Amino acid sequence: MSDVSIDDLPVRDELRGKSPYGAPQLDVPVRLNTNENPYPLPEPLVERIAERVREAARHLNRYPDRDAVELRTQLAAYLTKTAGHPVALENVWAANGSNEVIQQLLQTFGGPGRTALGFEPSYSMHALIARGTGTGWISGPRREDFTLDLPAAEKAIAGHRPDVVFVTTPNNPTGNAVPADTVRALYDAAQAARPSIVVVDEAYVEFSHGDSLLPLLDGRPHLVISRTMSKAFGAAGLRLGYLAAHPAVVDAVQLVRLPYHLSAITQATALAALEHTGTLLGYVEQLKAERDRLVAELRSLGYEVTDSDANFVQFGRFQDSHAVWRQILDRGVLVRDNGVPGWLRVTAGTPAENDAFLDAVREIKKEHS
Ligand code: PMP
Repeated sequence: MSDVSIDDLPVRDELRGKSPYGAPQLDVPVRLNTNENPYPLPEPLVERIAERVREAARHLNRYPDRDAVELRTQLAAYLTKTAGHPVALENVWAANGSNEVIQQLLQTFGGPGRTALGFEPSYSMHALIARGTGTGWISGPRREDFTLDLPAAEKAIAGHRPDVVFVTTPNNPTGNAVPADTVRALYDAAQAARPSIVVVDEAYVEFSHGDSLLPLLDGRPHLVISRTMSKAFGAAGLRLGYLAAHPAVVDAVQLVRLPYHLSAITQATALAALEHTGTLLGYVEQLKAERDRLVAELRSLGYEVTDSDANFVQFGRFQDSHAVWRQILDRGVLVRDNGVPGWLRVTAGTPAENDAFLDAVREIKKEHS
């Protein structure tokens, strides 16, 4: 058996020689590498999840609600309340993490013979999911300081006429947000070019200084806002992502979703979490304050830091970022090397975790000065 490797299998040509997504899951004292929320769920919520899951378990002989109506209704209520913009059940779709939302969008609007464009560096899974769905990937431009260069972006859209355009705001791994006016202009450029679907990935929007772009959905039927419960809700293990869009988009993704893709356990757990929105979003305020502290302290240590609207901070610049990543790891702190030359990314953790990280970089700085 062991004499057969992946290279011996008849895998699709575009997958040959490629590596899977792989943020290291290392067992170190301080893990600040995958933009998770460091706070465990509060005990009353754990109890409520247990209750809801116990009830769901009584019906596991049956398939779950295929359309996840109760969950989508509650997600719509959450969006309406927090973004100040009316969102209805018909506007919302949910899946196993926003990665699956993005996969369903690319299966629906991308695919063989079609292309998707994102402004890189950005969330690497957009390109990987494009590859997995047979969608061609186009790497769009960004400025040196990682902001979006609107004229260059419009030119790329007009030139390539992609079927799908990704705008990640706040952007991962850089942390900066894209102004609403820029997204409006990109949408117009994408409509003039094809028209294409514009996916605004708002995985980190709850941590932003600004507002969600949800109100832009008005009058823009090709706009999709993608969200997740993995970050602000502190529920990365739950695997629940969702989108808000025109009801026609929600109808379209149903063409590719697997039947009963959201398990009854997932739906029950997400509903319990949504009952505790107030408590969970309380942690967001603490994390924003810690994020701002990381930015200020790293700058005072002499690092370059990209403005952050997310729960993580990109800092540099390093001759050899991987070597610095290793030096920080040697001090018991795992950060992320996203392969952006000269830069590393640290997730805002608890105050104690952030102190451990800052001590590590202070020490490294001293050794090198
Ligand atoms: N979008 C962005 C920008 C992300 O950074 C992530 C996770 N790192 C996701 C989507 C996917 O998150 P999930 O599948 O956990 O919802």
